[in-house]
Amino acid sequence: MVQNSINFIENHSTAAELHVQTETIDYREPPPPYSVFPNNDSSIVSQPTIHQTIIVQTPLQDKPTFYNCNNCRERVLTKVEKVNTRKTHMLAGFICGLTCWCMLCCLGALPYAIPALKKSKHYCPNCNNFLGDYVKI
Ligand SMILES: [Zn+2]
Repeated sequence: MVQNSINFIENHSTAAELHVQTETIDYREPPPPYSVFPNNDSSIVSQPTIHQTIIVQTPLQDKPTFYNCNNCRERVLTKVEKVNTRKTHMLAGFICGLTCWCMLCCLGALPYAIPALKKSKHYCPNCNNFLGDYVKI
């Protein structure tokens, strides 16, 4: 008799627990099916293609150099003009001051005769646009 009542309580308690569990189950809508391709075509936006031309300039030298002119957009062989700089004048004065005691101050004119001691100014031969300087010292 006692054993039957225990079995009855156990059966009813498990039924009550099952009842509670069934009440807490929350039904949700299933997620939409996965698709590799998007459904709507409005999400595809065509990007404008941008074409950029990158021009690599060769560095200027103390002689005529192939260079891309910004003004006439041509690749030209530059026209070079040699110009005396402040360093050229200072070197000439230094040599003149150093050699004037022995009457050789005419050696002071030597820096003006050496092209490597001058600044090279590059110009475009087509449009005469200034392209840049090159200074060795
Ligand atoms: Zn030019």
